[in-house]
Formats: sequence, structure tokens, C-alpha cells
Amino acid sequence: MGTVKNQHYIQEKVLREFADNNQTYEVFLPENKIYKTNISNSMSSKYTYESSRSETNFLEKQFGKMESEYTKKLLELLRSIETLEKDQNILASVLTQIYRLLPSFLIYYYRSGAVLYEIGNHGGNINEDDKIDKVMANIFDSNYINNLSKTIQYNYEVSIIKSSNQGFIISDQFLSTASLNFKSRFINGTNRMIGFRDVIVLIPLSSTYYLVFLNGKPPKYIQSGKICNLLEDEISQVNNVIINNSYVKAVCLKEINLVKSLKNFTHTRPSMTFAKFDSGNHSMTALKKEVFFYERDKSKHDFLQFKIHHDFSKLQFRDECLCGSGKFFGNCCRYHYRTVMKSLKKDPEIYNVKYQYAVERNITDYYGHKQTIESMNAYEHIMKVVTKKL
Ligand SMILES: [Zn+2]
Ligand SMILES: [Zn+2]
Repeated sequence: MGTVKNQHYIQEKVLREFADNNQTYEVFLPENKIYKTNISNSMSSKYTYESSRSETNFLEKQFGKMESEYTKKLLELLRSIETLEKDQNILASVLTQIYRLLPSFLIYYYRSGAVLYEIGNHGGNINEDDKIDKVMANIFDSNYINNLSKTIQYNYEVSIIKSSNQGFIISDQFLSTASLNFKSRFINGTNRMIGFRDVIVLIPLSSTYYLVFLNGKPPKYIQSGKICNLLEDEISQVNNVIINNSYVKAVCLKEINLVKSLKNFTHTRPSMTFAKFDSGNHSMTALKKEVFFYERDKSKHDFLQFKIHHDFSKLQFRDECLCGSGKFFGNCCRYHYRTVMKSLKKDPEIYNVKYQYAVERNITDYYGHKQTIESMNAYEHIMKVVTKKL
């Protein structure tokens, strides 16, 4: 038995790129509190990855082995990016370097604090050992990780965005995702699932650079195939998405950027959806919180949440709107109502990307897995995933 050290759900080597001399700022979202911290204490807690079903520090050791491999490749990529910038600023020559890191990025996503939080807050009671098993089920499923990487590689365009004053935030979910338009309400997924069209995936490289994968219409300051130097206002828009991917913590080298984005943070826990099928069967599903890149899509989603409790179907143009604005329905929620009703009738499959090798698993999907830690050779699985060529 070894001692249990502070276990990071965002690894220290990743945080180092968001720190100056290992010092950085962290926000504790449940209390809107921002403080200076050392990365050795940031995004971590004791016993994060302890399961009574395995040796003490077992998973931490496995992750440790993966980290050095990852860090080497990450630093190589960052060097290439800096060279590219002075040169022709076209990403084509670094695509191989980018794609080979994809499985690692996804593993860091699945070991992140946000995903742990989602599993622990799905509505039912779950013991700590089961929780760890669920997280690990995704990480050690090398087919799944590789297929999800392929889905991104073959359907999403690549871009790199730059904050020249090191202003990017990193979420406790490691990578951040958002939907680039309002699709619908899904019983077992969100608008921002990897594997859907119109989704943006933001991957933290450092406080200066974020790697971006996107399908759909991005804001015009994000151009595919290029390194895009963002203005202050544009960095704020991206940071708003990143902070809203977080549940408990987010980190940034610049305190002011945390202060600014905290004003746009919405406290939302994973939600439950209840579905009743024609067959008579029922299902209860836990959903990640929805994050939309554009305000117009967020307002459609918010309207849909409201509509569930209110019947708009009988309203005429000149009736008073049910939302309480005092305006005519025709001049108020009618447009949202029509869009939302239309979206609910569509087959969800139309939102899939063309070459879909895998789609991001929803929280409840983790519960289908029978694998447990002791049935797997963790190290072999991790290394298989990390070293595999796409
Ligand atoms: Zn209501
Ligand atoms: Zn209204």
C-alpha cells in the first residue's frame, strides 16, 4: 500500500501550460470564488481515482505513464505551431501531429472532473467504486476512443486560435464543446455531442493556443486550416463557452478573464429527461448541460425548457404571450415556438455527421458497461490507445 497523494482530474502537465511558475488563478464555481493557486493543488482532490477494487494509487500510476508520452507530443506540437506562425501559417503540415494526439485528448476528457461530476450527479445513488469503473469503461475501451477520434478527424475541420496575452481559460472538463446551432431536445444526448453536425470542440493546448475542431458555421474569426489571432472580445466569447463547460472549477493565468467570464456562467447541473415510448416503455436519462456558442440558439433552447410546462398550441397572433412579456404572441415567442415544434418532429439521425465511427456516449450510457478495473490491464489499454496510428 502506498500513500494517496493529491490526485488531479486535470493533469498537472496540462495545467502547467496555463500557469506562470506553476502559479495560476482558479475559480470555484459553486461559490463564485476566485483565488491564486499552485497547480499542484489545482483541479485535484484526494482519492479522486481510488477504488477499493484495485491497489492504492493504481490508476494514478497508469495515468502517470501516459502523461510523459502525451507531454512530449504536446510540446512538439506547440513548437511546430510557433514555427508555422512565422512561416506561412497553414496547418496542413502539422495535421499528423494533431491527429495522433486525438485519442489522448479524449482520454483526458473522460478522466476529467466534469465527467466525474456528471456521473456522481446523475440523479441516482452511485457508490465511489462504481463511479470509477464507469469512468474507466470509456478510457479503457480503445475501440471506442479510436472510433471517436476518427469521427472527429473525418468530419470536423481544424483550426488553431490564439490569445497573444495568454488569456484562455481551461475547464474542469479538459476539452470544451458547444453546439453551433439549435437542433432539438434529445432523450439521451445533447446538442453538442461529438458525432453530431454543427458542433465545435475546443481543445486546450496552452493559455495561448486552443486547438479547434468544428463542423458547421463557426464565428468568422475562426477560420479552418489557419492559426487565428483573436481580439479581446473574441477571446471572451470563447472563454464563455469554456467556463460553461465547467461544473465546479476553471483555471486561467489571467485573473481578469476569469472575472469577466464568471459573469456569463450559468449554474446548471446535469438534468434528467423522462421519455415515454409508443411501446409503453419509459426511460429516465441523465443529460450533460447544454452549451450553445450563439445566444440565438441558447434562447431557443431556453424557450423549449419553458414550453414543456406551457401550452402555446392554441395561441393566436394577437393573444397575450404565455411567457409573461405582456406582448402579442405573434410579436414574441411565436418564432421560437414554430422552430422548436418543427425540430421535435425531425428524426435525430439527420444531425449525425457523415462518417460516424462512434458518437459521444451520454452519461447514462456508461451504465451499460460491465467492465471493471480488475478485469482490465489498464496500462496495456492506455498505451494501445495512445500509440495507435489513425
Ligand atoms: Zn412552468
Ligand atoms: Zn413570449
